[in-house]
Amino acid sequence: MESQTEGICSICNQRATLKCSGCKQQFYCNKEHQRQDWPRHKSICQAWEIHENSELGRYLLASRDLNPGDVILTESPLVWGPALHTDQRVCVGCGIRCNDSSTRCSKCLWPACDTYCSGLIDKNKHALECPLLLQARIIPRCDVLLVIRMLILWRKKSKHWKAIEKLQSHEDSRGPGTNAYEEVMDISQHIQRLLPGDPSDKQIIGKICGLIDVNALETIPPEGCVAIYETACLLEHSCLANTRHSFIIDDKGRPRITVKAVCHIQKGDHLSTMYTHALWATRARRAHLLETKYFSCHCKRCADPTELGTHLGTLICPQDNGFILPKDPLDFNSEWGCDLCPGILTASEVMQFVGKLEEDVDEVMGQARKDALVDLYSRILITTFKYQKFCNQTCINNKSIRLMSQ
Ligand SMILES: [Zn+2]
Ligand SMILES: [Zn+2]
Ligand SMILES: [Zn+2]
Ligand SMILES: [Zn+2]
Ligand SMILES: [Zn+2]
Ligand SMILES: [Zn+2]
Repeated sequence: MESQTEGICSICNQRATLKCSGCKQQFYCNKEHQRQDWPRHKSICQAWEIHENSELGRYLLASRDLNPGDVILTESPLVWGPALHTDQRVCVGCGIRCNDSSTRCSKCLWPACDTYCSGLIDKNKHALECPLLLQARIIPRCDVLLVIRMLILWRKKSKHWKAIEKLQSHEDSRGPGTNAYEEVMDISQHIQRLLPGDPSDKQIIGKICGLIDVNALETIPPEGCVAIYETACLLEHSCLANTRHSFIIDDKGRPRITVKAVCHIQKGDHLSTMYTHALWATRARRAHLLETKYFSCHCKRCADPTELGTHLGTLICPQDNGFILPKDPLDFNSEWGCDLCPGILTASEVMQFVGKLEEDVDEVMGQARKDALVDLYSRILITTFKYQKFCNQTCINNKSIRLMSQ
């Protein structure tokens, strides 16, 4: 970014050369005017700086002390569109879900919320991709639209593409034999008329899908879409993130992200977000991160068997109500042991038990009925009872607790 040496003092409108050291964008004629402006300026002053190392790649550090609720950054996306795995109909103009299957763009025939949707008729939005969709005769499938948008940016070698390609895409972990690879093959096939024979075009689809999977953040609004941001995508993951983000639709119809501090953050602290679900237990979070983001989380929460005292994933020992905890939470194959008796569960027994409970809960959540919930509660009691009876039989010598899931 070009850095200016002179600007206008925001208090007295005179020419000024004293630059705010936080954002390096605001000028003052003197220290006094800077002090006077701080109550207004602090909410927009840049709170982050980019650093880089071999382990994390590029990441963000707080460039000043932050309080809960402070805005850290706000920016519009480099690119956005329907999520890669969506099965929803999403408007090509504005990204909102549209259920009426009859409304379409009159030229390319992709789904639209309304024939007068502003994103559809604006010459800077859908109009840029519409002729290409029409010409390539692509059968509308919302889950490939974002790939097409990124392909257009790549072809144009646009400024946005230059920022996007600097992000991580982990292609080395997405080769033949992986689900990611299969998906890339499927998408390439679907949009092959956009890839006329040039082998580098086929390769770029792999990179684009990697960029989306690794970086894109789910937006709400519009629900069902994802977006890639130049700075917000550099937030590293932590299961104890110190920021939270939200979206609003900006004046150009794009989901603008705002990242805020959720706790006191000191200058120099790493800024982090949660790339998985906060209410999942350690095993599920770590498996999800490894599978989709290609890294093993070793954060404070993952490394603590009790998840920092929350006991989100703890099992209760039917013998003595002790806590059954993983001996090494950072090892997927670790045994689990009771903290009061010598009872042991293997990793696969824990998985089986938790998997069964999750299935039952999912089923009931799908029904969203009170009687189903009550029924589940009694079934969990029965399962626990059976489990307990089984344990009582097998644990007479207190050597091992064996799981019975049925
Ligand atoms: Zn001044
Ligand atoms: Zn500033
Ligand atoms: Zn629309
Ligand atoms: Zn169109
Ligand atoms: Zn973690
Ligand atoms: Zn026990």
